[in-house]
Amino acid sequence: MNSTPQNSVHNKPDELDRRSFLHHTGKLLAAGGLASTMGKAALGSSLNAPRSGGRVLVLGAGLAGLTAAYELSKANHEVTVLEARGRSGGRVRTYRDPFADGLYAEMGAEYIDASDDYGHRYCKEFDLKVITAKLYDALFLRGRKISMQALKEKAVAIPYQGTKPGYLFGQEAQYTKRIVELIKNPERLPPEVLKLDNLSVVELLTRSGAPEDIIALYNYTNATESTARPHELSALKMIKNHHGGGFNEEVNEGRILGGNDQLPKSMALRLADNILYRRPVRRIVHDQQGAEVFFEERGRLTSMKADHLVIALPFTILRDLDVSPSFSSEKTKCIQTLMYGHVMKIAMQFKRRIWDEAGSLGQRVFTDTELRRIYHFSADQPGQRGILMSFTSGGDAQRLGRLSPEKRRDTALSVATSLWPNAPEFYEGAAIKYWNEDPWMRGSYSFEGVGQARNYLEIAKRPEGRVHFAGEHTSRHRATMNGAIESGLRACREVLGS
Ligand SMILES: Cc1cc2nc3c(=O)[nH]c(=O)nc-3n(C[C@H](O)[C@H](O)[C@H](O)COP(=O)(O)OP(=O)(O)OC[C@H]3O[C@@H](n4cnc5c(N)ncnc54)[C@H](O)[C@@H]3O)c2cc1C
Repeated sequence: MNSTPQNSVHNKPDELDRRSFLHHTGKLLAAGGLASTMGKAALGSSLNAPRSGGRVLVLGAGLAGLTAAYELSKANHEVTVLEARGRSGGRVRTYRDPFADGLYAEMGAEYIDASDDYGHRYCKEFDLKVITAKLYDALFLRGRKISMQALKEKAVAIPYQGTKPGYLFGQEAQYTKRIVELIKNPERLPPEVLKLDNLSVVELLTRSGAPEDIIALYNYTNATESTARPHELSALKMIKNHHGGGFNEEVNEGRILGGNDQLPKSMALRLADNILYRRPVRRIVHDQQGAEVFFEERGRLTSMKADHLVIALPFTILRDLDVSPSFSSEKTKCIQTLMYGHVMKIAMQFKRRIWDEAGSLGQRVFTDTELRRIYHFSADQPGQRGILMSFTSGGDAQRLGRLSPEKRRDTALSVATSLWPNAPEFYEGAAIKYWNEDPWMRGSYSFEGVGQARNYLEIAKRPEGRVHFAGEHTSRHRATMNGAIESGLRACREVLGS
């Protein structure tokens, strides 16, 4: 397990379980399709109905592409999905093989928040159970161990200057309160708020009198929401978040019992041979009548034509494809420059669940170490062995990304040891996934860089003739599974309505 190479399981095709396919398909047909915001055409039809709609090509079998394809298929369109990998799900990636005793770990998307309506809707449709994840038990900041309860009771303060007692997340909001109060209607932001898009989070917080420590802490508290470094992130984006409430220590986060990959797999099983795997797209030609897409198939270039094209590829990938004629200048600029962060997950397997033993800090610890968040991933999985997950991002993920896999593992174990001193005795190895070195992703998820929070979203999702755009980066619920699904539904509506 220690020598599991990164991405080693990446090219394995997902195994299709015929029994579960029949079971699920039977249920789907009995249910008569989806109950959702889709039009009547989608509601009334099944995937086996004769195709009467147009021909649609969907690029990418992540949740966005799968959702679009699944719903278009139900609406009687002839759909083909081209996917570069040998599996569905994209950034929803559950590792099972590297671990013993049937344990699994989410190396990509993990949490479905209680408010993620689109995600919950499809979990319900496919009979997937979402269980609530544990809140933080403790903090490990500047070498100090602090229990969450002590923090909440204001018995202990965070060792960062300028922080409000009793809280961890959102400490910087006290310095932006005056600006947030200028927002009366989030749909119509006043000019003095809009112009903050020209500033980074660091610049705005510095101007607002926040001590350096507040900015340093923001680097960690905002780490999973955007994976950006604060000097890259638009100040307007932060202000919008503060207006909306933002993430805090009480957010109700859930995970799909048995693994998040069941969600994309449920859609992929229903699309079956409408998905062509190991077909990396290289070139797109489009006009008013439709599009032709060139892709690799067993080492040679081939092409397919369609009346509509849904591009559900991350912009980190699309920016290197040959598109003819070029999209509008606004769209091209957006594709070329939209920001993506760095993210790495390290899943350490331990022979014993040492974090549950006497004297432990707890199961879920927020840190300002290079591992950032460290938590017991396998809390809902039976057995004596357990998986300790590290979710690190931004500059820390980038620095770890420059190290060899062995050194990344050494770093992970060394941080775990500072929290649980007997960790080396029970450590059995670690699986690592650094998304920035994944050839079909090359990043974490999108975020609004300086100058990108004002109109980039509108530009990213706008169709270009018969070419439609889906993916988390085209959704207001950016950086989430929920957003990927929402964008797939929107792209589907565009095709049906055109
Ligand atoms: C480490 C990590 C943690 C995350 N945590 C969470 C979380 O807790 N909660 C949450 O909701 N979200 C989380 N996310 C975000 C979530 O995973 C994404 O927002 C969502 O899965 C994106 O779906 P998508 O369909 O837009 O893109 P992807 O899933 O990236 O799908 C794009 C697809 O295109 C394919 N592709 C790429 N290039 C080509 C090509 N040339 N030709 C053909 N196909 C190609 C890819 O293989 C991929 O299958 C996390 C992401 C990461 C990386």
